[in-house]
Amino acid sequence: MAVKQKIAFVTLGCKLNFSETSTIARQFPEPDYERVPPTEQADVYVVNTCSVTSAAERKCRQAIRRAAKLNPDAAIVVTGCYAQLRPHEIAALHQDASKITVVADKNEIYAPHAPRTAAPSENFFAAYSSGDRTRSFLKVQDGCDYRCTYCTIPLARGKSRNIPIGKLVDTAEAIARKGVKEIVITGVNIGDFGKSTGDTFFDLLKALHGVEGIERYRISSIEPNLLTHDMIRWIADARKILPHFHIPLQSGSNKILAAMQRRYTRELFAQRVGEIRHAMPYAFIGADVITGFPDETAADFDDTFRFLRQLAPSFVHVFPYSPRPHTPAAAYGNQVAEQERMRRSEALTQLSHSLLHDFYKKNIGRDEYVLFEHTEKNGCMYGYTRNYIKVETSYDAALTGQIAAVRLSDMLRVKGDVLSVMCEELRVKSDV
Ligand code: SF4
Repeated sequence: MAVKQKIAFVTLGCKLNFSETSTIARQFPEPDYERVPPTEQADVYVVNTCSVTSAAERKCRQAIRRAAKLNPDAAIVVTGCYAQLRPHEIAALHQDASKITVVADKNEIYAPHAPRTAAPSENFFAAYSSGDRTRSFLKVQDGCDYRCTYCTIPLARGKSRNIPIGKLVDTAEAIARKGVKEIVITGVNIGDFGKSTGDTFFDLLKALHGVEGIERYRISSIEPNLLTHDMIRWIADARKILPHFHIPLQSGSNKILAAMQRRYTRELFAQRVGEIRHAMPYAFIGADVITGFPDETAADFDDTFRFLRQLAPSFVHVFPYSPRPHTPAAAYGNQVAEQERMRRSEALTQLSHSLLHDFYKKNIGRDEYVLFEHTEKNGCMYGYTRNYIKVETSYDAALTGQIAAVRLSDMLRVKGDVLSVMCEELRVKSDV
């Protein structure tokens, strides 16, 4: 009997990379390969990299060096944004460069001798994650036509493109056949969906909503200028599209938004949040913010802080600005000192903790629907409400993978931060 090759996968970065690695892994099936953790010796390592910050790139390099150290003879296949942008840095990470193959087009991950290239692939690598029996990340779009001045993603992932809606519906049906009830709709700039096929993201939502077996869809992240008033109103009535919005704000200062070449003002962002709240008062609203962008003065930052405190989203994802090579912002004057970027991040992170606490508190006593996960930890099980509240209850095998109606009863805190919410089960409802 032939000896199985040991293969390990490393994923860095976003949900899109996560869904892509999962799809790549399905191409290396059990009969021929034994899957091992990336901390063990393997014959092949596949590293799906990220380039969003310098810290992310450092982690990629660490992962590649670790693989080379664990087994100097292993084949290391490196793909993803960092690989696309800086293939020559990657080749230099191994004393025998022939062991590393940089693959730009993930469709060619099978071709270990593909030429090293820095050109972004314009093919579409269709992907969805599997392995988690509760939810799957479905990639619907890739690339971006925007030119935000801090971002390397368009350089790494190329133009905005997608596959036809019909194919995505087929994939959602295949995911439903595996018993998965929730799909997270994922992409680089998903609101821009349809550019290459003459459709819109709204068309896609309507089509996916009709897939039998999938009970819940989360929209991973959508630009505020692409989240339309009509879409918000429709989502409020669409049973399966969850009241959970993740909207990049990046700055609450119009001066900084313009310098970033974002395509909206803070007023438009506030308007979208107002529309969501009006239609879905308990919707979860997360906002991304970058602190310390070049020329962000203390007054500009205060503007952002006050704007967020007043608007009170449920959560703020905070990222200190990280200058990326080959982006216009990296060459801007008035770069903010790293220490100050971190200080501003910390201030917004504290604000975010208190906003999340308020959001959870507002939900205590409400009835909600939770999709329970399969994992048991210390006799407890976990799941998320429609509006993205993590809940905890005593483990009950009958509830795993089920949607149950619950009453949110009490907040669980660790060192003052709310981690999850206790719930009392009301009844199991598998059709909601
Ligand atoms: S919208 Fe802007 S930040 Fe987002 S991927 Fe495109 S260029 Fe980057």
